[in-house]
Amino acid sequence: SIHKDLEEKIARFHQREDAILYASCFDANAGIFEALLTPEDAVLSDELNHASIIDGIRLCKANKYRYKHMDMQDLEAKLQDAQKHRLRLVATDGAFSMDGDIAPLREICQLAQKYNALVFIDECHATGFLGPNGRGTDELLGVMDKVTIINSTLGKALGGAAGGYTTGPKPLIDLLRQRSRPYLFSNSLPPAVVGCASKALDLLMDSNAIAQSMAAKTQRFRSKMTAAGFTISGKDHPICPVMLGDARLAAVMAEDMLNRGIYVIGFSYPVVPKGKARIRVQISAVHSDEDIDRCVEAFTEVGRKHGALP
Ligand code: PLP
Repeated sequence: SIHKDLEEKIARFHQREDAILYASCFDANAGIFEALLTPEDAVLSDELNHASIIDGIRLCKANKYRYKHMDMQDLEAKLQDAQKHRLRLVATDGAFSMDGDIAPLREICQLAQKYNALVFIDECHATGFLGPNGRGTDELLGVMDKVTIINSTLGKALGGAAGGYTTGPKPLIDLLRQRSRPYLFSNSLPPAVVGCASKALDLLMDSNAIAQSMAAKTQRFRSKMTAAGFTISGKDHPICPVMLGDARLAAVMAEDMLNRGIYVIGFSYPVVPKGKARIRVQISAVHSDEDIDRCVEAFTEVGRKHGALP
């Protein structure tokens, strides 16, 4: 019963009809495309979608289209080409974790309407903190009634370190219960994870204070770092990639930050393209304004020391 209660709560949180739990969002993504799409259908996927979406799509027999990252002209061209198929599904991360950029969901939903397609979003990097009430990218961009299917995780902002789900129309969820292989052929979530996720959703639904404080802290970090002379990729997202370019510079600066008690991660090729090395900073609800200011000061010192700032 605690699993059923959580599924009902997830659906209520996202304002959808029903939800189904998985052991992880990787499983939710692995299970949905094969269950939903046939060789008569088409799936259109952003080229930078998460590996689990790519793997899920690999498992299905639908016709596959890959559009350029957040490129609406390319998506439209692919949608036109896909008109010959029975059903079209556009699949995108709501927010992309490497650059902290947010999918243009308004435009995607307009195109989906024009070309009679369904929209699927992966909200792992949005659930719990994006949008005025933390509902996610669809709330942030005002398209909650236009996105058909949401997959997300209980393991990131909701804090449980495991668990995932699909939420959407009831007939879809009923279908997944009968056909989705990672749901049928694997254990469900441990009760402690269910209890943790359920409490996290209660906190979010009781008040929007956490979501609002995340937006304010994100804005504080991004604007202070920009004023200090750094380039922060993406927009309005608490994943804040400090762009440095050089792989060695990102590594030594991250190490120096750690020496100052600040844990931030340097990323370089092959995780990100060559010449686009960065330090990825993640703002959390438990950071205070003082923590954020101390982080900016440390970045400024370390950046000057290594020549990233004049
Ligand atoms: N989708 C995206 C966009 C992710 O970033 C991740 C995790 O890194 C997943 C899916 C997988 O989520 P989980 O850890 O719940 O399997």
